[in-house]
Amino acid sequence: MKDKYGRVIDYLRISLTENCNIRCLYCMPDWSCKDFQEDKSMLTTEEIIKISKLFSKFGIKKIRLTGGEPLLRRDIQEIIKGISKISNIEEICLTTNGLLLESKVEELKKNGLNRVNISLDTTDEEEYKKLTRGGELKKVLRAVKRCRELNIPVKINAVITNLQKAESIINLAKLTENDSLDIRFIELMPIGLGKGLKGFTGQDIINILEKKYILENLYTFEGTSKYYKIEGYKGRIGVINPMSECFCETCNRVRITSNGELKSCLSSEKTLNIKELLNDKYSEEERERIILETIFNRNEKNIFNTSDSEKMNMNKIGG
Ligand code: SAM
Ligand code: SF4
Repeated sequence: MKDKYGRVIDYLRISLTENCNIRCLYCMPDWSCKDFQEDKSMLTTEEIIKISKLFSKFGIKKIRLTGGEPLLRRDIQEIIKGISKISNIEEICLTTNGLLLESKVEELKKNGLNRVNISLDTTDEEEYKKLTRGGELKKVLRAVKRCRELNIPVKINAVITNLQKAESIINLAKLTENDSLDIRFIELMPIGLGKGLKGFTGQDIINILEKKYILENLYTFEGTSKYYKIEGYKGRIGVINPMSECFCETCNRVRITSNGELKSCLSSEKTLNIKELLNDKYSEEERERIILETIFNRNEKNIFNTSDSEKMNMNKIGG
């Protein structure tokens, strides 16, 4: 499947719920906001598997399950098992805050999960509690350890805002000392609550790390990430710069929100209701034509700081 700019789309991200078990300051409003409790329009297990099958026919090879917090779904094992049976899907990945991961990950792997991205913005217990409005850091660190024991490739994703200090970045980078995991620093995007904060740029991160360490540029660009390595350390440090650099030219992904809306560009409010399209009133040809046409006509570039991006919520889109 290609868009009109010739970009091949082979990566689908599905948000499984907009609800979460924590409330990161840049992502969700505080606990007094009850909007996320019911999630009535959430895609069902069957719909998720049906969508994955449909998109695999269009050339999707990699599926990432995200949220909100995807591990809040009681049917997460079933979803992964179902997707793993689809012949063209080569990789199933999960993006999670890691709080519920430790006890589930072994079975997730058995059911077909290949990789895990764990979001972690600090290694300080008190700071983690503050940034997530109550999260328990120990559980996340235990989950990282468990994944590594099971030989599951782990990437840690961190978004650093002006609520934090350079020390948080140094301490996160230290996680790469004895383990071959990747820690990737992602620039804060002005989406939803992210709009009210200021983020560190990828270059800020590199400058901070270079003051303390000898940083080797690996000159590798994987997906959206540029990689570096601290001399003598096992893991890698990545920067993902959606704000200070544009990587739209090589964008290979589309997203489906937790209520079944296809988003062909992260920054666009325009969506296509896939849940509705699964209805029997559409013939298979009609359904496929509508989806392929929408993807063909997707944005050439992301545009942030519009009234659209302010209205969006990252927990619905899945990052
Ligand atoms: N709850 C899971 C987690 O935190 O990994 C999955 C969903 S979360 C929305 C996915 C990613 O989006 C997280 O790594 C989070 O840090 C990131 N994120 C949320 N809001 C963001 C923003 N405004 N700019 C950049 N990244 C953001
Ligand atoms: Fe939840 Fe992930 Fe958003 Fe944090 S970033 S509030 S963990 S959905």
